[in-house]
Amino acid sequence: MKFYSTNNPGHKVSLKEAVIKGLAPDQGLYMPESIPVLPRSFFDKLPEKSFQEIGYEVISALFKADLSPKQIKDLVDHTLAFDAPLVKVEAGIYCLELFHGPTLAFKDFGARFCSKLMSMLMEGEKRKVRVLVATSGDTGSAVANGFYKIPGVEVIILYPKGKVSELQEKQFTTLGENIHCLEVEGVFDDCQKMVKEAFLDKELNERMMLTSANSINVARWIPQSLYYFYAYARLPEKHKKLVVSVPSGNFGNLGAGILAERMGLPIDMFIASTNLNKVVPEFLDGAPFSAKPSIQTLSNSMDVGNPSNFYRLLALYNNDENLFKEKVKGYFFDDEETQQAMAKVKAETGYILDPHGAVGFLGLKKFINQYPGEYQGIFLETAHPGKFKSVVDEVLGINLELPDRLKKFLSGSKKVEVLENDFDAFKNYLFEFNHV
Ligand SMILES: *Cc1c(COP(=O)(O)O)cnc(C)c1O
Repeated sequence: MKFYSTNNPGHKVSLKEAVIKGLAPDQGLYMPESIPVLPRSFFDKLPEKSFQEIGYEVISALFKADLSPKQIKDLVDHTLAFDAPLVKVEAGIYCLELFHGPTLAFKDFGARFCSKLMSMLMEGEKRKVRVLVATSGDTGSAVANGFYKIPGVEVIILYPKGKVSELQEKQFTTLGENIHCLEVEGVFDDCQKMVKEAFLDKELNERMMLTSANSINVARWIPQSLYYFYAYARLPEKHKKLVVSVPSGNFGNLGAGILAERMGLPIDMFIASTNLNKVVPEFLDGAPFSAKPSIQTLSNSMDVGNPSNFYRLLALYNNDENLFKEKVKGYFFDDEETQQAMAKVKAETGYILDPHGAVGFLGLKKFINQYPGEYQGIFLETAHPGKFKSVVDEVLGINLELPDRLKKFLSGSKKVEVLENDFDAFKNYLFEFNHV
C-alpha cells in the first residue's frame, strides 16, 4: 500500500516511509492511496470471528503487499491482546469499552500497533529512532507504555505543565529508561506545534532520525478501525440502522471509524461529539473550518482547538464537504451537561461513565432522540472512569476503586525536565540529547 499526502495527492510513499516520517514533508497527513472494500462473505461471517481474526483480515486487506502473513499475525495478536466489551447501557444504546489495555484508554490499541510495526520496519537499521510525542494526557501514557524498553527507540514526550491529571502524568513520567518527559510552559497546542516544527527542521532531521507516534501517524490511526468491526460483529440486531458516537479531540478515532465504514462496515451515521472545543461540530453545522485556541474542560484529553486529523476526515469523503456533512453530525457539550449525564446514567442504569464517554453518550442521545425508534447506537468509552477519579467521585458522590494496573503507576516517582515554550529551547534539548 502506498500513502499519499493530503496536501499533495501526487506525493506517494511506502508504508515504511509513512510510518517513520509520521507527517508528510509538506505537512500533509498520509492516507492510504486506495481503500479496499471487504467482501460480503467477510461481513456475513463477522459474528463468528474473534477480535484477532477480524483484525487479521482487515490489516491484510490494507498491508498484504508490505508485510508477510506472519508479521501481520504477530502485529494483530500483539495489538489485540485485551478485549473491547460491548456493554448494553439501556435499550438500543451500547457502550464500546476501549479501556481494557495497559493504560486504560483506547490509545493503547494504536500505541501497541505502532510500536510493534515500527520495530518490524526498523529491523536491520543501525541508527536509533527518536519518537516525538505531544500529549494532552492519554497519548503520552499509551505511547510510553507501548514503546517502553523497545530496543532502538527513544521516546520524547511533551505535555502542557499543570494541564494533565496527576494519574495521567504518572503513567508516562514514572517509567524512565527510554522514555523522556518534558513539561512545557504552555498548552497542548504549543506542544503539538513544537513537535510539528521539529519534523520540518532541516538541521534536526539531518542529525537524527525523528518520528512521530501521535494520532497523525498511520500506524496509530489505522488499527483503531479494528474495534468498530468487532463492535458491529456483536450487535444483536443487525437489521436496525446504526449510529456511532465518538468523543473526539484530534479526530483520529472518528477518522478510523469512517475508514471502517469506507471498507464496507454498515454504519449509517457518525456523531462527532466534543466538549467546548467545538470547531468540527461548528464546521458540520455550516461554519468555515477555523482553528481556535484550546479551552480547558473536564474531558481534558479532548481539549484540542486545532484538530490535526480534520483534513484526513475530508479526504475519507474524497474532499466532498457535502457528503461529509451528510454522514457525520456534530454536537458539543459543556462541563455541566457532561456532569449531569454522568449522574443521570449512574442513577438510571448503574453504569459509570468517565467525562469523555459522557460526551459521547450525550451526542448519541441527542441524535437518537430526533429519530424515535429508527436507530440503535454505540458510543465509545475511551477511558476507564478511574483515570478521572477525582471528577467521577465528586460528581457521583462515590469512592471509585482504582484498578490495580492504575494503582501501580501512582507509587512511582516523576522524572521530568521543564521546557520553556520556545522551539529553539526544544531544539537545543534534542541536540544535547543526541550526544548522550
Ligand atoms: C485522546 C482521547 C480522546 C480523543 O481522541 P481523538 O482520536 O484525538 O479524537 C478521547 N477520549 C480520551 C480518553 C482520549 O484519551
